[in-house]
This record gives sequence, C-alpha cells and structure tokens, in this order.
Amino acid sequence: MRTQMDPEFKTEVKKLGDCHIHVIMDGENYRNAVEKHREAVVDDVIHQCFLEYQGRGISFLRDGGDSYHVSERARELAPAYGITYRTPLFAIHKKGHYGGIVGYGFEHMSEYQALVDQVRRKNGDFIKIMVSGLIDFSKVGVLTEEGLDRDTIREMIRIAHEEGFSVMAHTNGVRNVLDVIEAGVDSLEHGAFMNEECIQALAESKTIWVPTLSPCQNMIGCGRFDDGVLREIAAIHMENIRMALERGAMLALGSDAGAWQVPHGKGTETELSWMQMAAPKAKQMMTALQEGEREIRRRFQRGGRERV
Ligand SMILES: [Zn+2]
Repeated sequence: MRTQMDPEFKTEVKKLGDCHIHVIMDGENYRNAVEKHREAVVDDVIHQCFLEYQGRGISFLRDGGDSYHVSERARELAPAYGITYRTPLFAIHKKGHYGGIVGYGFEHMSEYQALVDQVRRKNGDFIKIMVSGLIDFSKVGVLTEEGLDRDTIREMIRIAHEEGFSVMAHTNGVRNVLDVIEAGVDSLEHGAFMNEECIQALAESKTIWVPTLSPCQNMIGCGRFDDGVLREIAAIHMENIRMALERGAMLALGSDAGAWQVPHGKGTETELSWMQMAAPKAKQMMTALQEGEREIRRRFQRGGRERV
C-alpha cells in the first residue's frame, strides 16, 4: 500500500467522473440540506453543485436518487453544464430496513414491482436498491443492521433486470455481498468488510465495485469517532481494494459526495487519491477506474442492460 498521492495523476481526474454522488446532500448537514427542498426543489442548490463539478472538468455523474425529486430535476439541468447525469430517481428499500432517507419502501414484491414500474414510466436510468445497513463507525467490522435475505435480494435484482434495468446495490458485509454478486448485480456500492471469498467472486463476475473510501477516510481527525477505529476500517477496505485490483475485478470511482465530510467536486478528487493509495501503482488503478467507468456509463442508462 502506498501512503502518498502520486502528483502526476492528480490532473487525470478530469478524465474520470464520479459514479456515486447525492446531489440532495451537501456534505455538511443532511437534515438542513433536505429541508431546503421540502416545499419544492430549489434549483439554485443544484446549480451550485454542478458548478463544483464543471469547474473541475468532471463530466459524468451517477446519483443514488432521493424521495424529494431533486435528482429528477438535476437530470434536466445537467446538460447545460456539459454533464452526463444518470439517476435511478429514488432508491428502493424494504420497509423496516435502512434506506428511507434516499427513497421509497416496499413490503411485498408486488409493491417492489410497482416501484420499478414507476422508475420506468418516469424514465429513470437504472434501479438503486438498499440491501444492507451502514457501517457502524464506532466499532470495527460492525454494520448498523442485518441485511435482506438471499431470496428477496435475488428477486429484486431479477425483476429489475427483466425490466431492462441495470442495478446499483448499496451493500455491506460478507453475506450480502456474496448474495448480490451471485444474483448478477451490476454495481456493488461500498462493500465494507468483504473477505477473500467476496473478492474472488467479484473478480469472476461482471459486477463493478464502487468502494467509496471517502466517508470513512475523510472523517479521520474530525473528532466525531475514534480515529483508531476509522483507520482500521479504512485499512481493511484498502487491502480489499488492492486485492480486487490484483485479481482483475472491475472497479469504479465513486466518492459518495454529499455524505458527511465529502464535498461535491473536491470530494471526487480526494476519492481518487484514496483509491490510488490502495494500489501498488497509481497508473494501474487509473486504468482500472477508466475501464470501470466506461462500463458504468454503458450499462447504467435506459436500454444499457440488454448490451451487457
Ligand atoms: Zn451513497
């Protein structure tokens, strides 16, 4: 593992987009950010956000969606900034599990199907699903909740694929990661606490992994959590990224911009530096990320699924 950012690749971010962002969030205060759009979407917030990306030459963004129609509106505004912007409109979670803040919930599969139909009617670019909890940053190796069961995960991915959509899945933990890969998920988001079996399955699959190192790495030194715990969680993640790269798994750059301590625009550049630290050679990582993004751009659009 390298400990310093390679300056010669700093400018290369201009060629990479960000495959995991949340326009609705501001990197500072989730509640305040969402509150702004409660009555109606505030275009100015979106304009400010896109200016941060445009100014850095970042021209591809994939959002995770929200329940306030912010990413839906962002899609209309993006072309004026020369930005290709893809959104699932909203994320889908199982009621009683994590995901309420970014989308809508279902109880039975018929309701899930209805949400997928809604994405199709409103021209969403892909389906985003939530299959596990969040990282508990106060302890190493712990998630905030158990994820969904294997059958539910398989059915969710199958239905989306049948409707011609690619699937982006918020997933952490060994069991859930193995389940989504087996079900043929298109992109695996976060992927905290994977083991070697997960990395091997990933390498043998067509799944693209978007590790989002920034939320954990950027919190180091902020005083909100124990830095030793954060460093350990990040080290596990970096080691898995290194192994994934070595085994030829597909990887893409995604900062989770909008999450706490991950600003729009600048956050993408920082994410690239973290990803390159995880690689023995910065150039090798850059090539992998370019390939991964190419694949995400191709698959995560309407009709993209048929061409996998
Ligand atoms: Zn996210």
